[in-house]
Amino acid sequence: MSKRIVVLSSEIANKIAAGEVVERPASIVKELVENSIDAGATDIRVELEKGGCQSINVIDNGSGIEHEDVALVFERHATSKIYNFEDIYNVVSFGFRGEAMPSIASIAQVELLTRRKDDLSGTKATLEAGAIKEIAPAGCPAGTQISVTKIFANVPARRKFLKTEATEQGLCLDAITRLALAHPEIRFKVLVNGREVFAAPEVEDVSKRIAMVMGDDFSAHCISVDAQKDNLRLTGFISRPEYTKSNSKSVYLFVNKRFVRDNSVTHAVLSAYRQIIEPRRYPAAVLFLDLPPEDVDVNVHPAKMEVRFKDSHSVYDLVSKTIAQNLAGAQTSKSSFVYRLAPKEKASVPGYERSAEKFPAKSFGLFSRGNLQKAISDDLLTRSSVAETVSSFNSGNVGVKETITFSNLKYLGQFANTYLVFAGDDGLILLDQHAAHERIILEKLKKTIGPNIISQSLLLPEIVNLTPGQITLFSDYIDFLREIGLEIEIFGRDAIVVKALPAILSQVQAREIISDIADQLSEQNQVPSLQEKKEKILASLACHAAIKANSVLSLEEVAALCRELEATPFNLTCPHGRPITIKFSLSEIERMFKRK
Ligand code: ADP
Ligand code: MG
Repeated sequence: MSKRIVVLSSEIANKIAAGEVVERPASIVKELVENSIDAGATDIRVELEKGGCQSINVIDNGSGIEHEDVALVFERHATSKIYNFEDIYNVVSFGFRGEAMPSIASIAQVELLTRRKDDLSGTKATLEAGAIKEIAPAGCPAGTQISVTKIFANVPARRKFLKTEATEQGLCLDAITRLALAHPEIRFKVLVNGREVFAAPEVEDVSKRIAMVMGDDFSAHCISVDAQKDNLRLTGFISRPEYTKSNSKSVYLFVNKRFVRDNSVTHAVLSAYRQIIEPRRYPAAVLFLDLPPEDVDVNVHPAKMEVRFKDSHSVYDLVSKTIAQNLAGAQTSKSSFVYRLAPKEKASVPGYERSAEKFPAKSFGLFSRGNLQKAISDDLLTRSSVAETVSSFNSGNVGVKETITFSNLKYLGQFANTYLVFAGDDGLILLDQHAAHERIILEKLKKTIGPNIISQSLLLPEIVNLTPGQITLFSDYIDFLREIGLEIEIFGRDAIVVKALPAILSQVQAREIISDIADQLSEQNQVPSLQEKKEKILASLACHAAIKANSVLSLEEVAALCRELEATPFNLTCPHGRPITIKFSLSEIERMFKRK
């Protein structure tokens, strides 16, 4: 049966459109703060209640709004920022679509107080469900205050999509810190439930603001970049190879000061690091691309989180070349972190000569040489499969006669410093040393969770800087982390003190562990349940402690790994779900040789 066509009322149309612009409290915060920046504010204060789910207040000292214009603020397509269509190709403001305020008003209750500096009296407007209830003169400081409450009260379906208050609050703080990164000249302050959680005074130099937002750790491990090609300028900071993250979210890109996500630019950044940092680790970077507004289309995404470059090839080239050059020119830092290059890369990247050979013991974690010797000798007495065959492990001088086995497979050797090769009766097996060790450690961690966990107090508690958004996420996990032997305390608004680490991880730097857990906690959507988040945390700890790919293993180490893996449940896949072993069956091999 065909239905009749109707034109939707503006109320319904606004609610529908709001879905694109106002996804969650953080989107409201972003739109309001952007409006304040567009209004020329030099001082912006954001107040959140219940993670921004109950109320959001943004107060600025910007231009204010003229009394007669106040009603227009909430009209769809009402803007003071463009007048002609062509203007959007020259726009230097954040806004221009005139959508945010009506969208926000349609899904919440809004109160606006505003006064222009030279006006004697200001204006107050109250709106409910998108409709203006009252507009009246009112006394107020110069600037604009917007208070948003009852968020999504009239669209319960959307409210259901919100995550926990801590997560929403983290996202609000992320939105503010991204804007703060690109605007060092503006003072920002954020209060959560009346308590100040972020304060960034105005600074002349963007590097100072970056240190405030990204933390001292990033500042201590970054390289500044500055390059220009024609009208395109790239400035900012990139992490040194020894500072890595567990995902690519710390690569921040600003195009003409607007934070955007751009797969192509991110790809350019990551590929410049590919041969320098370990697989599945990511750099951090704060990059500012500046180009004439007519060379970039910002009107391709409702929340303007994506842009389209007129000449995307030039952008890609400039980013990848600049980063590669700067990395090649950087000296390695004094950090004790060990990283490796594929052998062929060592020669071509000056300054990165530190290699597996020079620093062999550091990265073995569980298998630090001393423990290993002991583990092996204990084992020789008790277990037969390895013990029979591995008889003289004194100082690593292993004679040619010994054979190492794993589940009745005979060890042949190490391939590409990453895979252990085994022969069985009916095929050839490759075992990923990192994946195998990860699984061993994960199962050990899981087994020891609880009061019996062995944790090791740090002689000097270590302070790790995080963003305010990340800090809020930790509060829900302190007890869980204690159960796995990681004792932390939240220290002020942007740091965590690590007091003890699980003994199994004692060789890993606290900073790396905490920053990875922060990454895991802030990961959205893919990880719905608390249990899964906890598993991810454990997996990321295991990953840190495990032997790395690209490490030369001695026979003792291989023997110990095999023995431990034999005693480990789920020993066929690593905690991230990748396989630990891959088998080439004899018949497959025979087929390849055309014997069959
Ligand atoms: P846009 O930002 O795309 O113009 P908005 O719906 O966000 O659209 O805002 C509509 C208009 O309201 C803006 O163009 C601006 O003139 C005015 N406005 C909103 N917030 C502020 C503010 N904090 N200070 C001054 N003017 C504001
Ligand atoms: Mg706007």
